[in-house]
Amino acid sequence: MTSKEQILQLREELNKHNYNYYVLDSPSISDYDFDIKLKKLQALEAKHPEFFDANSPSQRVGGEITKNFETLVHEQRMYSLDNSYSKEDLLDWETRIKKMVDGDLQFTCELKYDGASISLTYENGNLIKAVTRGDGVQGDNVTANIKTIRSVPLQLKGDFPERFDIRGEIVLPYEGFNKMNEERIEIGEEPYRNPRNTASGSLKLQDSSEVAKRPLECLLYSIVGSNLNITTQFESLEKARSWGFKVPQAAKLVNSIDEVFEFINYWDKHRHELPYETDGVVVKVNNLQQQEELGYTAKAPRWAIAYKFKAEQVSTRLNTISYQVGRTGAITPVANLEPVELAGTTVKRASLHNADQIEKLDIRVGDEVFVEKGGEIIPKIIAVDLTKRPENSQPTQYITHCPECETELVRTEGEAQHYCPNYNGCKPQIIGRIQHFISRKAMDIEGLGGETVALLVNENLIHNYSDLYELTKEQVLPLERMAEKSADNLIKGIEQSKQVPFERVLYALGVRYVGETVAKKLAKHYKSIEAIAEASHDHLINVDEIGVKIAESVLEFFNSQTNREIINRLRDFGVQLEISAEKLANQTNILEGNIFVVSGVFHIVSRDELKKLIEDNGGKVSSSISGKTNYIVAGDNMGPSKKEKAEKLQVSIISEQEFLEMVQ
Ligand code: AMP
Ligand code: ZN
Repeated sequence: MTSKEQILQLREELNKHNYNYYVLDSPSISDYDFDIKLKKLQALEAKHPEFFDANSPSQRVGGEITKNFETLVHEQRMYSLDNSYSKEDLLDWETRIKKMVDGDLQFTCELKYDGASISLTYENGNLIKAVTRGDGVQGDNVTANIKTIRSVPLQLKGDFPERFDIRGEIVLPYEGFNKMNEERIEIGEEPYRNPRNTASGSLKLQDSSEVAKRPLECLLYSIVGSNLNITTQFESLEKARSWGFKVPQAAKLVNSIDEVFEFINYWDKHRHELPYETDGVVVKVNNLQQQEELGYTAKAPRWAIAYKFKAEQVSTRLNTISYQVGRTGAITPVANLEPVELAGTTVKRASLHNADQIEKLDIRVGDEVFVEKGGEIIPKIIAVDLTKRPENSQPTQYITHCPECETELVRTEGEAQHYCPNYNGCKPQIIGRIQHFISRKAMDIEGLGGETVALLVNENLIHNYSDLYELTKEQVLPLERMAEKSADNLIKGIEQSKQVPFERVLYALGVRYVGETVAKKLAKHYKSIEAIAEASHDHLINVDEIGVKIAESVLEFFNSQTNREIINRLRDFGVQLEISAEKLANQTNILEGNIFVVSGVFHIVSRDELKKLIEDNGGKVSSSISGKTNYIVAGDNMGPSKKEKAEKLQVSIISEQEFLEMVQ
């Protein structure tokens, strides 16, 4: 085979596997094998720049930087949709359009996906551009970013028209959204508000490799162009699906408004089971000939109408506003509401986000407010019912001092949140920091929980995490719900945490923006806490993946005399503050890029040792088997369902012995 043939074959294979994984949700190859093929392709492409193709699957990882997004005019306008809120509205719409067209009406019912609209242009089966809706007439060219979304086909299959536009919605499924937020909260960043805004914000990121990391999806709903040889909307969905697009299966062809209503009623109940947000149903006249007869108003097609699900919203009284202090000192205002039923649960509190939000909505204690449950878990206040505002009502004065320690709050230019700067003296910060220190991914102290930490701090038995190591059984025994055995376990757990490796200790310290991954990077690069504490700003930002924000936070942490003293105490107690010599000697990169699942009972090494070996050699350990898993290290009694899943996903199953040979 010539290099060119090899390149073309690899591209085709990778496109197919991508499609199986991201469009059909049924992977046909392990991630490991996928990566091998991708690396092979990348190597060949690097050697043969003459065969470059902007739509090669190798382009999915991104890397292109867009400083200013170019404005492009849509060849066909992107319209908005008229809204309806009741069965009457829909019947009115039907009556109106029946007068304007000949023949019976059929409708395609689709879900209204809540994300960011996008228009994709394909020529000869290749994606040539992707443009945001903008004002409907023109939008931004975001092609480089869209290419990184795995469910967007770069190369179509089947019998597609020579040139056409296809429209859809970029969404961020809940699972990916929540995961992104967990990671942000973990390192002290503000969580994203909702999937929709995060999805549309993602499209305008300058670095496409950042977009590639976000689990975005593209759901398609409409084809536009000429000479398409398509006669109905439903057919266009089926065709789009056959060319490789992700078109949700919920779409349904019906013959009457009654059936439309059945569809609406069904999805009003079941939409929460979908992996992404929807805010209604879009009803479209099915026949494209009839669509043409109906045409458009200035703003929207006459042949379609959106039915908006009733926002799960109620009004209730705002009794008080309280202010919570987080582990990082961030202040979050919380609305305490007159309890009210909303979407099947009793709501007593709602997030107010920050001072700007309160000011913007002019929210005051005593107001009757509208509360809504959107994609977020915590309900939010969306408006005030001004007609019910009490006469003597006063604008809310945001607090100026910490509710816990009375220190004056600060607010950094450009940040939405106020902070309590009393790092070492503010109870919730102290407790939060120690709770983080003992948490599972950090020091993982068995026998000690979050509530006990709060008790210990409140009883003045500890003031920072280094004090844990001086606790005695006699001191903790008198605490609430503490018995002989639990006290023993607590002391033992603390003692054992002295063996926790340096990278996790570093994470446990709770330096702002230093999450698990960053801690691993820093530990690997500097090897000891002294080296990190002495690193300069310039030196830090030269470390892979360490940016200015993290560097500044690290410098600030080690500039504090108190922090240095705490670290000295940890050292005296024997906590690991450097990579152990043994570990250094044993570390390699031979497993880099491979994800392992460990299952069953082992004989030569313990389960934990096995996991450690994987990580020390550059591999990753995951708890469940997925398309991303490369190997399963199977001991005795591996579960049959795991085995079945592994076989289905074609993940290599290796024995303990085989694994040990890999790292020998
Ligand atoms: P609106 O923004 O409320 O005017 O609603 C129009 C928008 O709904 C369009 O721009 C699309 O981005 C979006 N939309 C979501 N799902 C669909 C769908 N199945 N069919 C048509 N438009 C949809
Ligand atoms: Zn405080």
